[in-house]
Amino acid sequence: MMTIVVNTTLEKENRAVIGVDLGGTKIATGMLDQSGSLLARSQKATAGLKSADEVISTIVDTINEVRGEQDIAGVGVASPGMVDSKNGIISNGVNLPDWDGISLQSELEKRLGISVRLINDANAAAWGEYVYGAGRGSQSMVYVTLSTGIGSGLVLDGRLFTGSSSFAGELGHTVINPAGIQCGCGQRGCWETYSSGTAIARLAREAIAEAGIETHMTMLAEAEGVPLSAKHVFQAAGQGDQVAAETLEQVIHYTGLGLMNIIHSFNPDRIVIGGGVSRAGNAFFEPLIRKTEELILEPYRGTCTIKPAELRDDVGIIGAAALFVD
Ligand SMILES: [Zn+2]
Repeated sequence: MMTIVVNTTLEKENRAVIGVDLGGTKIATGMLDQSGSLLARSQKATAGLKSADEVISTIVDTINEVRGEQDIAGVGVASPGMVDSKNGIISNGVNLPDWDGISLQSELEKRLGISVRLINDANAAAWGEYVYGAGRGSQSMVYVTLSTGIGSGLVLDGRLFTGSSSFAGELGHTVINPAGIQCGCGQRGCWETYSSGTAIARLAREAIAEAGIETHMTMLAEAEGVPLSAKHVFQAAGQGDQVAAETLEQVIHYTGLGLMNIIHSFNPDRIVIGGGVSRAGNAFFEPLIRKTEELILEPYRGTCTIKPAELRDDVGIIGAAALFVD
């Protein structure tokens, strides 16, 4: 009996894990070892898939491609939208055929014979950063992604916190201005209407209209032949554009308010910021850290490190797979 137990433990330690990053346009799947190294990767487009059954078969194909003969500890699936992790159901918000309310966990377990867990993509990114990225070594970490919208995930006292029905962490929809502009969720003045990449571009357009002058931001966007984006605001501010600098100051204030709410709510020792906006580097992080320290209550000062995310494009795969890392 003893020998069997020891052997099982040894095998478990060496077992590979699989992460699936499910998106509206592609399925990306990777196999990792227990230390987080990506051993194999497969990607397939979802365009042309006509039914939920075809989508599930495609997911299974990618898993079989990466797994080879490996013994797999489990498969984590990261999905956008509302994910009911408790029941293994994707509620809605993913642009795939017949997908709303699909029992993906039980379907995959049936076809693969491996245990499967479903998770929201922001929670997967949070867990990935905590285990392998910028959250390593922290005790309580909040992950925030500033991109088209704002996503977030909570790791509290070393555990991924998903709440009673697994929907915790919609920090982008915490309200920072009840008299603010309408958010896609129906409320007014949600944090994501002030600090997401989309919001930064809007604030810049408003500032340009108000200033009534040609700004460097506009010229940068025109030179690229693309609409004005957050990237141009950071670039122009760095090159001395006054309107861009003022927009950036506003953005830093709003983002700091969101981080202040996080620090007062969860008292994390680390906040990790990912998404396109986080790529602005020091021009964003230095003033943001200063502003947040200034906004928070005195006892919280110096208790929380704010860092850019470290994992890049495969964060969804890595985070989902890490659900099965010991
Ligand atoms: Zn909202």
